[in-house]
Amino acid sequence: MAESQGVLTQDLRRIDGRPYGFYKDLQGQTYTLGPYGLRFDHIQGDPFASPSRVRVDIPASRASLPDWSCAGATARRASADFVHRAFLRTLSASRGKLGSGKSGLLEIMPVGQQALERTAVLVRPNGALRVRLSVGLPAAGRRILGREAAQLLTRRLPEVLDRVFDGGEPKTLQRHVHCIEDQVALRKQLSDNGLVAFLAEGSILPRRSGADDRPLDAAIPLDVPQALAYELHAPHAGVLRGLGLRAGVTLIAGGGYHGKSTLLSALANGVYDHIPGDGRDRCVSVASAVSIRAEDGRSVRGVDLRPFINALPLGRRTDWFDTADASGSTSQAAAIVEALEAGATALLIDEDTAATNFMIRDARMRRLVPSEKEPITPYLDRVRQLWEEKHISSVLVVGGAGDYLDVADTVIQMDAYRPQDVTQRAREVAHQLPQKTSGAQAPGLWPESRPRRPDPRSLDPRRGRKQERVRSVKTRAIEFGSEEIDVSLLYQLVDAAQCRMIGDVLLQCARGLCDGEKTLPELLNRVDAEIDKAGLDAVTDRDFGDRARARRFEIAAALNRLRSLRLVGGG
Ligand code: ADP
Ligand code: MG
Repeated sequence: MAESQGVLTQDLRRIDGRPYGFYKDLQGQTYTLGPYGLRFDHIQGDPFASPSRVRVDIPASRASLPDWSCAGATARRASADFVHRAFLRTLSASRGKLGSGKSGLLEIMPVGQQALERTAVLVRPNGALRVRLSVGLPAAGRRILGREAAQLLTRRLPEVLDRVFDGGEPKTLQRHVHCIEDQVALRKQLSDNGLVAFLAEGSILPRRSGADDRPLDAAIPLDVPQALAYELHAPHAGVLRGLGLRAGVTLIAGGGYHGKSTLLSALANGVYDHIPGDGRDRCVSVASAVSIRAEDGRSVRGVDLRPFINALPLGRRTDWFDTADASGSTSQAAAIVEALEAGATALLIDEDTAATNFMIRDARMRRLVPSEKEPITPYLDRVRQLWEEKHISSVLVVGGAGDYLDVADTVIQMDAYRPQDVTQRAREVAHQLPQKTSGAQAPGLWPESRPRRPDPRSLDPRRGRKQERVRSVKTRAIEFGSEEIDVSLLYQLVDAAQCRMIGDVLLQCARGLCDGEKTLPELLNRVDAEIDKAGLDAVTDRDFGDRARARRFEIAAALNRLRSLRLVGGG
């Protein structure tokens, strides 16, 4: 083994002082470093380019993970997340720069508060690990620094690995795995209990800032009144008391700045598992809860808006709505229809980001502008039908639209960050101040939409005649060929690594996954099935340890925002 370590040193010394391009000799090569296996997956073109990518294989005997931490997909995801964070800590404690550009850099992808399925660390059922790292291969100017490279790869890297795998404390690993297993188990119990979300008493919901997702210091822990309390059984933490949000139509009311949006955000984030200490690590929502908002200016392709929009001026089609520049209300209607198509079972809507004319139309407006002249069927009119006929729940933050009191199953009032059950009181108010001429109006039947089949010819990842080019810009955008897909308003896209994964999936779509036959939900099913069977590597670029799993809803949302998208048999 030491011999092979020597081989790498020799190979690096041989190219010492030569032009940077000679590093390419390493591409695809494998070496052993003591107990570890090293492979060069991708070699950077010059010292200033994105760093090279290596993967390290760690045999089970060296990793020595306990059996329980590798048993089952959830435990493996949680253990991988734990090891990933151990690498982050170890690497940040031992930084070194050795020359020009990215020389000497040794990094693993950053992570946020969620324990997502990722490609940086893979834990196999037998307890072996694969870790993917970025390495800045050292140079002076553009000349290879072979000795420094040998130092970095045969000394520092094994040291980091040793520190991660010798320093493991089984207790903290256990806490991490149990915490995440509990969240998965709690989430599974929601629908049997008639809930869309459960937030354990004492949880910390607010975040430090819009740019810092860690828990707010000195926040008021979640208080749970008896009327809204549920008890669920977590396999490790035992019986937990918490705030249950029942399936159906729930309003979150309350004065401005009383914590309404914060509660809704926690529900939106509850589709993910959070790390211990996050404050939301016992807050779970059904996995198919989708945040909906208005997003004027986006493109909409072949979406059946008839549940909400009919009879547009100039005879514009609404059963196959197509625009490069949606309005607030049409964009919100499209977001709902698209979410339902992808399989959403709960919709989360905040008045702060909704189109008012989509949410309600009051009595005076209904009188001034007769229905024949108003294309919009407000959400108010459809929200009960959505629940009663389609079993789609809604959780709505509504501070100002009292008409919703008539259609809510549950009304929660946030009062100085404390939830109260005011359902009964809301009924009394609705009774005392009835809506004579308005209130929710009986809507027509929910129209049956045609399936949407993306046309592969409309997915072009090349720029003009050039190579395929797909990359993402944080969680803001995905560049796809000559287009930039704006995903900045997708609230449940929480990590840049998810954006990269979506870019990979879109590329797969363009390369044949999308065949003009499969409907959009069939495409999403295929992607989910492949990942469930063979892991993220099945759909992502394997050379990079910087991908994380995005949900089908965010994948669909990105595809739906591709301006060039066309559908087979389109309008
Ligand atoms: P609303 O939507 O009702 O106007 P927000 O949810 O936006 O209110 O909350 C207003 C402010 O209060 C935010 O800055 C938020 O971080 C803070 N906040 C929310 N919940 C708590 C809490 N439990 N403890 C302390 N501060 C909180
Ligand atoms: Mg708000």
